[in-house]
Amino acid sequence: MRKEDCIFCKIAAGEIPSTKVYEDDKILAFKDIAPQAPVHIVFIPKDHILSCADDITEENSAIIADIFVAIAKTAKQLGLDNGYRIINNCGEDGAQSVKHIHFHLLGGEKLSERIV
Ligand code: 5GP
Ligand code: ZN
Repeated sequence: MRKEDCIFCKIAAGEIPSTKVYEDDKILAFKDIAPQAPVHIVFIPKDHILSCADDITEENSAIIADIFVAIAKTAKQLGLDNGYRIINNCGEDGAQSVKHIHFHLLGGEKLSERIV
């Protein structure tokens, strides 16, 4: 499933170019266009099945586990042996700008004690 005018659906479809870091049949990870750390990668399900974390249910949560497996694999591949941060912005108060669920992987330096 895809949504018209969704930037991440267009990236998943190859209509907007991205620097891919990880890909399998269900998941894509690419470098964030405005990195906030030396390593800043966005992980998405290729299908626009969830808008944000608030949509996660028992029925659709398997893809979330798959994304976290992909993150762990990618972090090892990139040598983030000293740690990293995973962030999901959800909704207005979460300052989510793209309404296609995604997880930020940030690392490559000691991150700020805030947020979080
Ligand atoms: P959010 O604020 O919704 O959690 O994160 C959306 C992220 O997508 C932002 O960090 C933003 O820099 C990134 N982003 C927005 N448009 C594009 C794009 O066209 N290409 C890439 N690679 N990243 C994008
Ligand atoms: Zn989408």
